[in-house]
Amino acid sequence: MVEKYDVVVVGAGPAGSVAAIKAAEGGAKTLILERCNLPRFKLCGGGVANWVVRRLNIPEEVLQRRYDVLSFFTPPNYDRYDIELGTTSYFGVYRDEFDYYLTSMAIKKGAKLREKARVTGVIKEGKQVKGVVTSEGDKYLADVVIACDGASSRISKLSRLWTKWFQNVGEKWQDQMSYCVGIEVKLGEKVISERFGNSYMIFTGKDIAPLGYAWLFPKRENISVGLGSMAKTLEKKPMDYMNHFLSHNPVASELLKGGERVLSRGAWLPAWKPGGSVYKPSFDEGLLIAGDAAGMVSSITGEGIYYAVRAGMEAGVTAAEAINEGDVSREFLSKYQERWERSIGVALEFQDQIFHETVGKILILEDERERENQYERGFIEAFSMLIDFIQEYAKQKKRT
Ligand SMILES: Cc1cc2nc3c(=O)[nH]c(=O)nc-3n(C[C@H](O)[C@H](O)[C@H](O)COP(=O)(O)OP(=O)(O)OC[C@H]3O[C@@H](n4cnc5c(N)ncnc54)[C@H](O)[C@@H]3O)c2cc1C
Repeated sequence: MVEKYDVVVVGAGPAGSVAAIKAAEGGAKTLILERCNLPRFKLCGGGVANWVVRRLNIPEEVLQRRYDVLSFFTPPNYDRYDIELGTTSYFGVYRDEFDYYLTSMAIKKGAKLREKARVTGVIKEGKQVKGVVTSEGDKYLADVVIACDGASSRISKLSRLWTKWFQNVGEKWQDQMSYCVGIEVKLGEKVISERFGNSYMIFTGKDIAPLGYAWLFPKRENISVGLGSMAKTLEKKPMDYMNHFLSHNPVASELLKGGERVLSRGAWLPAWKPGGSVYKPSFDEGLLIAGDAAGMVSSITGEGIYYAVRAGMEAGVTAAEAINEGDVSREFLSKYQERWERSIGVALEFQDQIFHETVGKILILEDERERENQYERGFIEAFSMLIDFIQEYAKQKKRT
């Protein structure tokens, strides 16, 4: 089968669905290809920034819980350290519900959706991307392809861009990523409200996650428990770290006491990046790349939904403009990168910088004891600097 569209978006995560909303709003004949049946499960803490909730009018029923406080627990005693989030509060969502809401919005705007459509190939004429092929052999031709196919993006790998991003690394791509595991613990709404109130929690410690952290994101009935670390620092199976955390951490084991474990999964996250920053360029002839597929994730927190949404917006708008102007050249599409750099580039780069200035500096200390001692402080410092930055930024935005 062969079909032709103006814009084909690969992946119905936040980046893809929002890109499709904007491309369809801009008048482009838009198709989303998604390898799963929707709504689909996605392993995630599900912490979504207030900005996203307001901007996309996420309905109440999708919002499981509001977080006003970020609580830190660090070794050796796991004393609690609270950071008030103020206007930069977060909301807890389940990704199947949240993502499907966005995909439904894209369909309402006129985009088409093909589920169970796994993209396996890119169609090119010379250097120009002209469409994609699925595992079933179906061909979807497009003037612009927007790759939003997540952390291990097939399209990024098939395009020349992946090779460019990773060319100087000299390691497997997996070594340049974080690996996460997550479980759901069923505790019931009453117990969760008593134990967690309006906070979500982060735990650091080398035995918890060597170069990362563990988190507890309470939802209405369950707690999403996760843990992630730079993959190459893991010395045992990721789920072994999780089991150790659940059974040995004095605070987490009390908070989760009596809970029933209902699910466990693993996933990649591009929180670490080759060259230390977001993958660039994020465009090519007839091709735009957004969200995790382009490494748009905070190096400190692993947050990616906000960045995926904002980049998706810019990708969809740029693709529709390119169609309307009849110009899908690399030069025209470079506007996309200029735009996302204006909207999220500073925040992403600032976080890369803070991470390298705090945790990164500590990691290269020669004395192992000193490294261990300072490591926890480095993480707290990085998070605190980040929250100060976000709050200051929010204040300035309010003033202007
Ligand atoms: C354990 C964990 C916890 C996280 N917690 C948070 C958090 O609390 N808050 C936060 O902001 N971020 C969090 N993140 C990061 C966040 O999940 C991502 O940054 C975000 O999902 C990126 O959105 P995306 O649309 O780029 O990709 P995704 O959400 O990954 O969507 C990609 C989509 O593409 C589809 N797809 C993939 N390959 C193909 C193919 N070949 N053909 C067709 N379809 C394809 C997938 O099925 C999927 O639906 C977490 C990540 C992990 C792993």
